[in-house]
Amino acid sequence: MSAVSSARQILTRLHEVMAGRTHAQHKLDRVVEIIAESLDSEVCSIYLLREGALELYATQGLNPDAVHVTRLGLGEGLTGTIAANIETLNLAEAKAHPDFLYRPETGEERFHSFAGVPIVYRERAVGVLCVQHIDPRRYEEVEVEALQTTAMILSELIAHKELVDDEEQIDLEEARSESDVLDGLTLVKGLAFGHAVLHQPRVEIDQVVAEDIEAERQRVYRAFDKMRDQIDAMGKEPEFGKGGEHVEVLETYKMFAYDEGWSRRINEAIDSGLTAEAAIERVQQRTRMRMREIDDPLLQDRMHDLEDLSNRLLRIVSGQLQTAATQGLRRDTILVARNLGPAELLEYDRRRLKGVVLEEGSLTAHVVIVARAMGVPVLGRVGGLRSKISEGDEILLDADKGSVTLRPSASLLEAFDVRFAKSREKQAAYAELRDVEPFTRDGTRIAVMMNAGLRDDMSALAMTGADGVGLFRTEFQFLISSTLPQRDRQTRLYRDVLEAAGNKPVIFRTVDIGGDKAVPYLNNGLGEREENPAMGWRALRLSLEREGLLKAQARALLEAAAGRTLNVMFPMVSEPWEFDAARKVFEDQLGFLRDRRKLVPETIEYGCMLEVPALAEMIDQLAPKLSFISVGTNDLTQFLFAADRANPKLAARYDWLSPAILRFLARIARDVVSHPVRLGICGEMGGRRLEALALLGIGYRRLSISPAAVGPIKELVRKVDLQEITKQMTMWLATPPPDLRAALQDWATEQNIELD
Ligand code: PEP
Ligand code: MG
Repeated sequence: MSAVSSARQILTRLHEVMAGRTHAQHKLDRVVEIIAESLDSEVCSIYLLREGALELYATQGLNPDAVHVTRLGLGEGLTGTIAANIETLNLAEAKAHPDFLYRPETGEERFHSFAGVPIVYRERAVGVLCVQHIDPRRYEEVEVEALQTTAMILSELIAHKELVDDEEQIDLEEARSESDVLDGLTLVKGLAFGHAVLHQPRVEIDQVVAEDIEAERQRVYRAFDKMRDQIDAMGKEPEFGKGGEHVEVLETYKMFAYDEGWSRRINEAIDSGLTAEAAIERVQQRTRMRMREIDDPLLQDRMHDLEDLSNRLLRIVSGQLQTAATQGLRRDTILVARNLGPAELLEYDRRRLKGVVLEEGSLTAHVVIVARAMGVPVLGRVGGLRSKISEGDEILLDADKGSVTLRPSASLLEAFDVRFAKSREKQAAYAELRDVEPFTRDGTRIAVMMNAGLRDDMSALAMTGADGVGLFRTEFQFLISSTLPQRDRQTRLYRDVLEAAGNKPVIFRTVDIGGDKAVPYLNNGLGEREENPAMGWRALRLSLEREGLLKAQARALLEAAAGRTLNVMFPMVSEPWEFDAARKVFEDQLGFLRDRRKLVPETIEYGCMLEVPALAEMIDQLAPKLSFISVGTNDLTQFLFAADRANPKLAARYDWLSPAILRFLARIARDVVSHPVRLGICGEMGGRRLEALALLGIGYRRLSISPAAVGPIKELVRKVDLQEITKQMTMWLATPPPDLRAALQDWATEQNIELD
């Protein structure tokens, strides 16, 4: 008999049992009878996990008095081993196995062969299904497969309380109760507590047994077609054009999506009587089990990709396509994802989103910048995270120390409360600095501004006492919108932002889209795949070519700032003529408005981002045209080091405190000093205390940083003697110490400058 027909036969009979109106124990008794009969075995038993132990719930062939009496711990005996390791055992001679344990009450001494499979629910064993035979022979592969399919059905039936009485508490969730600490890379510092929400929720399978096998098969075919289309389309998205990890993932996706073996196995599972959803899950479960036995990190990575794809197929087939954002967050949440785009993160309710944990992620990826702007701690690079977590699990995120605790114990929670209180105290101390001006010890006023991108960010201006907004990323509005924001919508936003800022200045940066800030409505129009979008058609390059876009934005900004000062800067300028061209678009619009006697800004101050290294060579030519220069260290350093800022593999590849970067930045400061131009930094580097200290020491007096960093940086500024750090940095840049970061750290400690 084939696996398909034996499983199908069992399924049909199970179906009949489930349709009957008898109570749960009776149903279970019938189930073991059916399986024993179908697999021609003397014994069939079902153990279920209750109160931490595997309890014999039903048996055909063992002593009936042992039912609800025999209990085995996880890892105890063959049954306990199967559950603990989530593995299948198929033995000709059970007694010969080192884990064999004899329980006299069961009367199982007569039986030789043994095959057992775990009953898995949400990737955890909640029970064991086993068969035994008098003859010392291994079960056939097809029989074991039939057993596995049956176990899957049992798991669904148990989860739906169809095989156990309501009052019988099976440890469906408890099985995951042990706590687990995982390490990662701190992307946004902070502490948070909340319940796990998977960005892409697991699909709930409502129906396991198929009513019409042909219809199920068609559903799977259609889902495969759709998934393959999606993957082919993905290749055209800019983030996949970047090379590196994304491309590898895409290649693996393609390999699996077109893998005949995978679709064949799903079809076979459907043939055995499962619905499309159950068949996909069944095949995935089997792959998971196989992979557990292989200890190869490369293959494990592949497994994650297959897991992703399998979930995608499940979502397509079941029509459950939404992300957790569309369903809304109901309580304090720690969001769990493989990776996220900035726009996806922005869809979440900021009041409930307390933290984010990613399997990937890098320090200057835009999603991280957005999270920093939202004040949400983020931990990245937590490998295998999603397989260790269940929806709703409690999570303690300690992005200060770079770890995350899943299902923390009560004592850990208590200890965390103490740290949380301390951190709140610190926050309160920073809040007190709100109205204190950041002068250095030797009396230099440092401008501490904040970065923003959304209307909501503006409340942070008053809360932190920042001197203004040094970088308003106008592209955020484009990112959260599904269509190109019309001019009047832009005007409204800019007007609101200026109103919220009151007398404080706001520097609007014209859109910086492209790169990892892809907007589908623009890229679709282009249809071109870029090999290297970070160095590609983005930011001002795109705006100058799509002049309509820049014109509309210029009009919106000019109208919004009517009667006051408009500060505007351009991103990714690589040559002075680009600045001239962009400025001309603004001047033309200004002329247009004046001709129509419209109210225009009193003054317009133009500035440039310096984030393309080539521009640093042209400061003498460029500076006379400008009111200010803002160094974007996120991009500048990725270009200086030729290290993609969004590639997690390169996250630790260079240090902002390397002499190369600091010398480069010091040179810019020296070249600018002879011009009446305000020079600042608006990259993430400026918000880190040690880095900020170095920047002060090489001539920077204006920092624009995330709102959360304003307090800590103000506190730092007030402890610094500018002359001292300048002397020190000059020495170090002339003759760099082997580890500049360590040297600066030691120096700060000597000066009693606290850094964490
Ligand atoms: C930068 O590149 O440093 C910068 C501030 O701009 P963004 O991070 O938005 O690219
Ligand atoms: Mg930039």
